[in-house]
Amino acid sequence: ATRPTPARFATAADALHTVFGYESFRGNQGAAIEQLIAGGDAIVLMPTGGGKSLIYQIPALVRPGTGLVVSPLIALMHDQVDALVANGVRAAYLNSTQAPAERAAVERAYLSGELDLIYVAPERLSNATTRSLLQRGTLSVIAIDEAHCVSQWGHDFRPDYLTLGELGEQFPGVPRVALTATATAATHREITERLRLPDAAHFVASFDRPNIQYRIDPKVEPRKQLLSFIRSMPEGSAGIVYALSRKSVEQTAEFLRTQGVDALAYHAGLDAAVRARHQARFLREDGVVIVATIAFGMGIDKPDVRFVAHIDLPKSVEGYYQETGRAGRDGEPSVAWMAYGLGDVVQQRRMIDQSPGDRSYKTRLGQHLDAMLALCETVGCRRQNLLGYFGESSDPCGNCDTCLAAPDTWDGLVPAQKLLSTIVRLQRERGQAFGAGHLIDILRGASTDRIRQQGHDSLSTYGLGADLSDQDWRSVIRQLLARGILVSQGEYGTLALGEPAGGVLRGESAVPLRRDVLGRGGAGSSRVR
Ligand code: ADP
Ligand code: ZN
Repeated sequence: ATRPTPARFATAADALHTVFGYESFRGNQGAAIEQLIAGGDAIVLMPTGGGKSLIYQIPALVRPGTGLVVSPLIALMHDQVDALVANGVRAAYLNSTQAPAERAAVERAYLSGELDLIYVAPERLSNATTRSLLQRGTLSVIAIDEAHCVSQWGHDFRPDYLTLGELGEQFPGVPRVALTATATAATHREITERLRLPDAAHFVASFDRPNIQYRIDPKVEPRKQLLSFIRSMPEGSAGIVYALSRKSVEQTAEFLRTQGVDALAYHAGLDAAVRARHQARFLREDGVVIVATIAFGMGIDKPDVRFVAHIDLPKSVEGYYQETGRAGRDGEPSVAWMAYGLGDVVQQRRMIDQSPGDRSYKTRLGQHLDAMLALCETVGCRRQNLLGYFGESSDPCGNCDTCLAAPDTWDGLVPAQKLLSTIVRLQRERGQAFGAGHLIDILRGASTDRIRQQGHDSLSTYGLGADLSDQDWRSVIRQLLARGILVSQGEYGTLALGEPAGGVLRGESAVPLRRDVLGRGGAGSSRVR
């Protein structure tokens, strides 16, 4: 017969002090833990480094039974289990890297009530044998880590996560918690729906990482820029440099080594032994710089990473936030630096066009990219833009490049008015709506088939915007989108006016735009004045 693991501690505070050696809970950590101990469900949105693990580990120690943790990251699972065992917690995992005998021992320990926590990979859990095993024992709490993986629109979708919605029915009465460091409203909604947590209490922490300084430069000579950035950091700083391709990872690491930086490459094409060696050096030694594709970093627990650099544009703000979030988990001053250029944008648009998937999927990818570019091109505080993307309002931070030195701007009011009035006319006079490409063609006076067929060359704004390049117009549109002056709608991403558009049309609001954005360069922008 099976028996539940007895509770190890009477209160959450006991477990916190005794097992983890911490004084007090952070932010809403304690409230989320109490919700679970009381048997309720919870959804926790908290940035990387916020302390999500304790939120399920402590209820597992206070409630009778075994805590089940679903985690997609096998490396992280191993690290967490090792750390728990070192603190006297009886934790184990079930995953595909295990030998059958080892797995059987874990199963036995679970059924005889000798485990406080059991970590399971999602693909194991979607299999009926594992679920029936778990049903024969007693669970205390179910934690779904990296819960944003359930989002089909997100950047980390895992099909196995879709089956996790059934856990509520299969384990009635066991409180469930979904945790993620991705905080968009859309992801939040999808987690609530797909994991079937309608009655969960929501614990949303601020996503601000005040110790990270954000800096974004136009890309000119990326390697030189990267090198001078690294040299500007204190001697011996550990850092991560992200690049998009394996080739660029290798070449960049090689270049940095020739310049005396202790740089190591990391990507999926390297031998497993080499990867493990590089990772181990990064974790244990001072001053190692890892040059990696985005695969690196998920679940790497190194608190004193002093900088994260991007030499290629990330595909989304969520991705950028997660990657930069690997800096400064110890709370000490750290820098997130990036260089981006027109080439990045062209390359990513091509990748989106060529990606499999329907129109609305590609539109979504395009919107992710536009939001990322809006962050690059903002004249305002980077942090304000970043947090605003996650629905959080804040004051200018004083600790990002635009706060520290106001960028050179030009007034985009007139072009913005031309664009908005084109949209208004098409809508009012013809009931039509279009995406950015066609609107720019109208403004620049292009002679395309579509323009001739639609008779758009007879619009009063036709050709009125020929003084700006296609790239300039795209930048204007991104800024208007980022400020809510424009909204992108539907499967084709057609543009419509947002609420603040009225003020722009009446000439009441300024529309400052950066001089140094893509395609524009320093010079030439005065032509719109
Ligand atoms: P997340 O999973 O949200 O990225 P972790 O759970 O890995 O964050 O926690 C980040 C770090 O903060 C860890 O080193 C953890 O031990 C530490 N930590 C968590 N909670 C507390 C607390 N209440 N007091 C002090 N340190 C904490
Ligand atoms: Zn700022």
